[in-house]
Amino acid sequence: MARAAVANGTWDGAAAAAAALSRSLLTPVVNATGVLLHTNLGRAPWPATDPGRATNLELDLDTGRRGDRRRGVGRLLATLTGAEDALVLNNGAAAVLLVLAALAEDRDTVVSRGELVEIGGGFRIPDVVARSGTRLVEVGTTNRTRADDYRRAVAAPGADVGAILVVHRSNFRIEGFTASPTVTELATIGPPVVVDLGSGLLDAGCPWLRGGPPAWLAGEPGVRQTLAAGADLVAFSGDKLLAGPQAGIVVGRADLVARCAAHPLARALRCGSLVLGSLQELALTYLRRDGEAVPFWRRATTPLVDLEDRARAVVARAGRGEVAVTEATTGGGTLPGVSIPSIGVALEGDHLAVLRAAPTPVIARVRDGRTLLDLRTVDPHEDGALAEAVGGTRHP
Ligand SMILES: *Cc1c(COP(=O)(O)O)cnc(C)c1O
Repeated sequence: MARAAVANGTWDGAAAAAAALSRSLLTPVVNATGVLLHTNLGRAPWPATDPGRATNLELDLDTGRRGDRRRGVGRLLATLTGAEDALVLNNGAAAVLLVLAALAEDRDTVVSRGELVEIGGGFRIPDVVARSGTRLVEVGTTNRTRADDYRRAVAAPGADVGAILVVHRSNFRIEGFTASPTVTELATIGPPVVVDLGSGLLDAGCPWLRGGPPAWLAGEPGVRQTLAAGADLVAFSGDKLLAGPQAGIVVGRADLVARCAAHPLARALRCGSLVLGSLQELALTYLRRDGEAVPFWRRATTPLVDLEDRARAVVARAGRGEVAVTEATTGGGTLPGVSIPSIGVALEGDHLAVLRAAPTPVIARVRDGRTLLDLRTVDPHEDGALAEAVGGTRHP
């Protein structure tokens, strides 16, 4: 920036340009939006720890020979979901792409017309099916598809079905006159049943939460239950309800996971030790059933009285705003239409830009002419920075 200022003779703007550059770099922010998994804010908050040292990423410590990077964390994820094996990739989209390429390249993939959907960020099921090199065979209708529709497609003359793909309605709902077969029904038809579960709740029983699954999670399918129902492979994201780093996970039958791992695309879509190490920490945390240690679950289940106490303290410290009842959501393409009761701080008017300009940027939202800072998505140790930013809205 200094060189550019010298070259252009624009001395006055140099400091501002340097500050603007620094604000374009990755920096921690306070998520006061009330959206727990905010895609613009990196979805689930979970630390990546790099020991800055060599690891046994691809070394078998027993034999001294070349090892397999998916062994360690893959085994933990398989244990958590009741799967035979697991594979970790770059994200959920990569997981679906690879599974279809490995199981049904140059063959047919049968999908319900009710599931030819866009998940967000341009991830459209028909496009992904095409890019994976498989032929899309649509069955049923937008609102109703039956097991017989799939059966007929599989038995049709000339059909060569490599996979039946089921796409979870992670981020939208269809209501009213609807029907779709269960995974158990589809599993009796023949071809491998692949479920793109997206949101990736590990286990609908939430054994890592002392109070069991919260009411707002009702109806959300778990990876473990989907496998138990008969799915051959399940693909899901690492940073949605699993609440870890950006990753895509494939779990299920060992022979099919091995086919995915052996496909040439697997190498292009795999993760390094930074993500695998971070995911391993998360898997161990779930195995210890320690939901309190997972920021997403801790925030999602914080009692309202705790949020109210903190909101009062923020208002007192900032000397501004008032305690307000709010509604948080899980977000990030999960649990559409579901809200979680919450408490926050409200300010009259729109202060979003001033809050974003705070030393630790605070991201809030505006509703009905008021700025709302939802405390459910804020970690208690961020309350000080939040109060300071709220105080700063007095003289913008
Ligand atoms: C979110 C989602 C994906 C994409 O996962 P990313 O991790 O965002 O790449 C794919 N399928 C479904 C059903 C999803 O909900």
